[in-house]
Amino acid sequence: MGLKLFNTLSRSVQEFAPLAPPKVGMYCCGPTVYDFAHIGNWRTFVFSDLVRRYLEFKDFRVTHVMNITDVEDKIIRGVREAKTTLREFTGQYETAFFADMKTLNCLEPHHKPRATEHIAEIISLIEKLVARGIAYEAADGSVYFSIEKYRGCGCNYGQLLKLNFDEMRAGERVKSDEYAKESVADFALWKARAPEDGDIFWPSPFGEGRPGWHIECSAMSMKVLGESFDVHLGGEDLIFPHHEDEIAQSEGATGKPFVKYWLHGAHLLVEGKKMSKSLGNFFTLRDLLAKGFTGREIRYSLLTAHYRETFNFTLEGLQGAKTALARIDECVGKLREVAGRDGQQVGPANLVSRFSAALDDDLNISAAWGVVFEWVRETNKRIAENSLSSSEAAAALDAWEKVDSVLGIGTKSEAEIPAEILALAEARTAAKKAKDFKCADAIRDELKAKGWVIEDTPKGPKLKKI
Ligand SMILES: [Zn+2]
Repeated sequence: MGLKLFNTLSRSVQEFAPLAPPKVGMYCCGPTVYDFAHIGNWRTFVFSDLVRRYLEFKDFRVTHVMNITDVEDKIIRGVREAKTTLREFTGQYETAFFADMKTLNCLEPHHKPRATEHIAEIISLIEKLVARGIAYEAADGSVYFSIEKYRGCGCNYGQLLKLNFDEMRAGERVKSDEYAKESVADFALWKARAPEDGDIFWPSPFGEGRPGWHIECSAMSMKVLGESFDVHLGGEDLIFPHHEDEIAQSEGATGKPFVKYWLHGAHLLVEGKKMSKSLGNFFTLRDLLAKGFTGREIRYSLLTAHYRETFNFTLEGLQGAKTALARIDECVGKLREVAGRDGQQVGPANLVSRFSAALDDDLNISAAWGVVFEWVRETNKRIAENSLSSSEAAAALDAWEKVDSVLGIGTKSEAEIPAEILALAEARTAAKKAKDFKCADAIRDELKAKGWVIEDTPKGPKLKKI
């Protein structure tokens, strides 16, 4: 069965057919490195990771590009306030971003272009637009994209979002990178150097200045993936103006269709409300780790809702993630024990095909988890009945690994058990050996108080988180 995805461009679910299969060019708008990424940002990046992993599962050869926006209005403000250099300011957040990405087990993109290292490509793209009469220099030395001229060439501005052009006044300009659709206006491609920019500027044929945010993504995506490519992802808040402007700049310069499939992830609420620092429901990944949750639990939680549905992220939900993962861990752990008796394998269980059928349907993740937990239930039952042969268990483990290559949650490893808990477990084993059962029981109670149960199995004691 083929993969179907919701394409914002056609506003419908479409069969996925890349331009040159099995190759897939995929671009995801990356972080603006002026602060730590918050959990709403991470929802988009985990969604993007799911898309990449699933395309690879379907044997597509994905080239994954994610840019780093390291020059933009908010960054310049941050550099000024922190009284530091651009590179130093953005470098710290860029490093933190990739560390967080690893914590969430997101695969590293193949290309991570930085805007400041693509100024030449950005300038040449702006020159193309000026040469085609779609962009113009204003009196202040900035270069703007003319929506009127672009539409005059028969191009369509408003491909992702329906816009009311009757309310628009031709030639009106907006210099800020972020604006509402009510203020559709000519937007800045190159911003003339202003006193508040300090020493953040580059020379250009239009005079000293810096690029606007939107043109950065057009220049970097086309440099790596070509003038037309397959998939462009981002959060739904980027549909307008960022992605609409990306299409206009790219198609205005090349005359070719820019992207075949636009995928957008929906918003995230925290405890039912829009995340904001003043409401106290604003979480970076680091805030959640400090509360004792793991990257794995947070990833699982972000992967429980369909990407096009608003997701209500709650701390209670994260507790639920612990329980759900423990069920998977326990099942996989038992399978390993059973499978370990001999190494033979039989054909794959139907877990993989049912899981894949669910995700083929516009990444129906709820149905996919449904398949996983049904499999956990059935497997546990078979193990309890002692009716699962070791070769069946080995095949089941293989199937689980294939499924987990998409989910990326892995299984709990010994390394995740804190050293203090391992030391207590060892002390208990020693006490039992010395037949000091009173001491062994006391240690077992202590472990329980710390949230761990110890089970004696034929292979020795096993620790499990409560
Ligand atoms: Zn972008």
